[in-house]
Amino acid sequence: MSNIIEVQHLKKYFNTSSGTLHAVDDVSFGIEEGETLGVVGESGCGKSTLGRVILHLLDSTDGKILYRGEDITQVDREKMSELRKSMQIIFQDPFASLNPRMTVYQTIREPMDIAGGFSKEEIDKRVYELMDTVGLARRLVNAYPHELDGGRRQRVGIARALVLNPKFIVCDEPVSALDVSIQAQILNLMQDIQEATGLTYIFITHDLSVVKYISNNILVMYLGQMVEKAESDALFAAPLHPYTKALLSAVPIPNVHHEKQRIALKGELTSPIDPHDGCRFASRCPYAKEKCFKENPVPEMIGENHMVVCHYVHEINHL
Ligand code: SF4
Ligand code: MG
Repeated sequence: MSNIIEVQHLKKYFNTSSGTLHAVDDVSFGIEEGETLGVVGESGCGKSTLGRVILHLLDSTDGKILYRGEDITQVDREKMSELRKSMQIIFQDPFASLNPRMTVYQTIREPMDIAGGFSKEEIDKRVYELMDTVGLARRLVNAYPHELDGGRRQRVGIARALVLNPKFIVCDEPVSALDVSIQAQILNLMQDIQEATGLTYIFITHDLSVVKYISNNILVMYLGQMVEKAESDALFAAPLHPYTKALLSAVPIPNVHHEKQRIALKGELTSPIDPHDGCRFASRCPYAKEKCFKENPVPEMIGENHMVVCHYVHEINHL
């Protein structure tokens, strides 16, 4: 399988009054067509920014984003509006992301209006088809967002994202604002749609238990940098980076019987504004040594598909 998306040394910096914020700092990965990459980290780790830069909703500072082999950081506006149909986003809070003055029908059809070239019949057919796909009763077609509960609002957001038949969707915390019972329904729906269409997802979340089942691979980020990437099962079975270990220790996982000691992280958060060299996790890492505060660790492959960014990964894991 070939990579539908490949990100190479991607950086996104923001100038702020207190300095340069390194929101995404040298991130590289590939996603195979039809798979889901979970991107996990605490709020402020740059995962949402990463999603927006990949979709070209924000300009990158440096690096490449290849979509089917073509660098989309270099394409002109016309080509980008063409590509935009293939690449969509589902937002965290469906209430904030839906226009309160637009009905379900108007919301779902709007991307077709913007793209242009569709007849009224084609639009009607597509809107009803998608309402069926996402499990929205057709009688809700003229409802407004405030008349819908959170789960139904997110179904509208999903239908809207699907309306132009995209190949790739960035899902930014799509279930975080929903009740736990609704979360599972929406996750199942997203998986069913993926199976039926071969869609590729980037699934951004702070909640590891959410990405475990939906992701083929998981990328863990900390303050703008990658710390670990592995197949989902491998990551949950044996996280190798101290930060991932701490994150996972806080997740209750059913069917895991061995005693798990919760690792509490102490220490100050390093500032992502004008950061100095060294591992950004060093101020909180229980294994940090002098070198960690001075030199950037570099990505290292442990086995075929497991990437870790830590000076002492071998020592810590007795590899
Ligand atoms: Fe901890 Fe050092 Fe590894 Fe960073 S490089 S995770 S500080 S041991
Ligand atoms: Mg976010």
